Amino acid sequence: MTAPITQDVLTIPRTLPDGPVNLVGLTRPAMREALIAAGTPDKQAKMRVNQIWQWIYQWGVRDFSEMTNLAKAYRAQLAEKFVIEIPEMVSRLVSEDGTRKYLVRIAGGHEVEVVYIPEEDRGTLCVSSQVGCTLTCSFCHTGTQKLVRNLTAGEIVGQVMMARDDLGEWPVPGAPKDETRLLSNIVLMGMGEPLYNFDNVRDAMKIVMDPEGIQLSRRRITLSTSGVVPEIARTAEEIGCQLAISFHATTDEVRDRLVPINKRWNIEELLGALASYPKLSNSERITFEYVMLHGVNDSDDDARRLIDHIKRHKIPAKINLIPFNEWPGAQYKRSSNNRIRAFADIIYKAGYASPIRTPRGEDIMAACGQLKSATERARKSKRQIEAEAGLAQNG
Ligand code: SAH
Ligand code: SF4
Repeated sequence: MTAPITQDVLTIPRTLPDGPVNLVGLTRPAMREALIAAGTPDKQAKMRVNQIWQWIYQWGVRDFSEMTNLAKAYRAQLAEKFVIEIPEMVSRLVSEDGTRKYLVRIAGGHEVEVVYIPEEDRGTLCVSSQVGCTLTCSFCHTGTQKLVRNLTAGEIVGQVMMARDDLGEWPVPGAPKDETRLLSNIVLMGMGEPLYNFDNVRDAMKIVMDPEGIQLSRRRITLSTSGVVPEIARTAEEIGCQLAISFHATTDEVRDRLVPINKRWNIEELLGALASYPKLSNSERITFEYVMLHGVNDSDDDARRLIDHIKRHKIPAKINLIPFNEWPGAQYKRSSNNRIRAFADIIYKAGYASPIRTPRGEDIMAACGQLKSATERARKSKRQIEAEAGLAQNG
């Protein structure tokens, strides 16, 4: 197979030459440099970063004029050189079950989807890391869309800020701090392969975890990867979040078909990298995601092989069974509920948690693996229409 494109090749620059710099998405050191380059005295730079950082990430302020602890002249100077911008929300669909699916537009007119899933004890935001994906997992809707580009760190953290805007979750200055957070967890399980956009994903998650901003604990952030083996140790060391792995098959033959990156790094190599993750990241368990596909990967033997893999490598694990979410044109069917339960039972009896993920937001096509930008869908149907028209003319 052809080698997948490596990370960062397609990220657009943060700003146009000579245009104002967007402060959203800059790490603290990068913001410091940017402020100095714009005339902030070196000695003051650290304090100014702290102040501006808190306005942006703690209070959700987007306008320099509201940064009342900065001198008026300095605010005006900042407004000339910088902007505080997040992606624009183009539409919002709310499912019967309360799941919200947002379509957001990023620079260049591209669009990505972001999903908010409210639960009793938490609210999870499913964030995208790329427009499309270089990989072509055969059961995934995003996989049918070519990679358009990587998202910048600002566009990734911007999805979180946009959701907080929509949920009305920024604190009002002076008001008591909210105890219960509507947006309490982040999963990098939207469109794209986060480990092929490593630096931007890392910078964005560092911002989200920063104690003087959005303040989400690394234990509440889960990064899901299809298995980019060389980046797994870096994820532990440089991000330190929870890891989920799109495992989905128990033999190389089947995994090659479902998750083609397996041809590059096979099951044994992947398991080896996973085994060192908990120690490197000081996290507890790895989540094995396993999509249940009727007659493909859902036999009792599969369940036993899965356990054997995990035990052989002594990986502390939880196995998340995902009923396949169908999408138009998909070549697979969801396993029956009885099959899924029997599979879960074998895993549970072997001593591992085996929750079955309840599909959320299916009525608005917001479930796992159903994301694909509406424009891309529209483009495709336009192409299809044209193709059909061509056929009609020729015929
Ligand atoms: N690219 C990353 C993260 C995005 S996909 C990855 O592959 O891990 C998030 C999860 O949804 C993955 O486990 C993916 O395998 C799963 N998924 C994709 N398509 C699906 C579908 N149609 N039904 C159920 N799960 C799906
Ligand atoms: Fe890309 Fe993940 Fe979908 Fe595979 S499952 S095509 S890696 S988004």
